[in-house]
Amino acid sequence: MSSDVVSCPSCGARNRVPVAAKGHPRCAKCATDLAWLVAAGDTDFAAAVDTDVLVVVDLWAPWCGPCRMVAPALEELSRRYAGRLKVVKVDVDRAPGVARRFEAGSIPLLVFMRGGRVVESVVGAQPLHALQATVESLLHVPSRH
Ligand SMILES: [Zn+2]
Repeated sequence: MSSDVVSCPSCGARNRVPVAAKGHPRCAKCATDLAWLVAAGDTDFAAAVDTDVLVVVDLWAPWCGPCRMVAPALEELSRRYAGRLKVVKVDVDRAPGVARRFEAGSIPLLVFMRGGRVVESVVGAQPLHALQATVESLLHVPSRH
């Protein structure tokens, strides 16, 4: 669970994408920004959200049907906003500490964070275009420019 392998959308090179890193992952061959989607639990959550890019924490569980509908939308967003967005997936059954911290009684719960602070949260499954609108509005916060 320390890293994942992602194919570069530009040159096809396979890159290891770490749970936590300074900056954001880029292709080792051509420097294209790579999608950053990781799984984290109680032990590595703090490190996973310690980043300069916008983070969306996906609190989910394998038995949760609506969570499965959100998952592909988040994968799409992680590709579309590569270099600017990080998706951190947290299985609430395996991460009771994180689940408690965000009071994840109802899932899916999406928590948007920047600099370790919560900036927005969304309860329940939302379609891709709604999630994209939220990401867009958060990416255009003036402090990023
Ligand atoms: Zn590449």
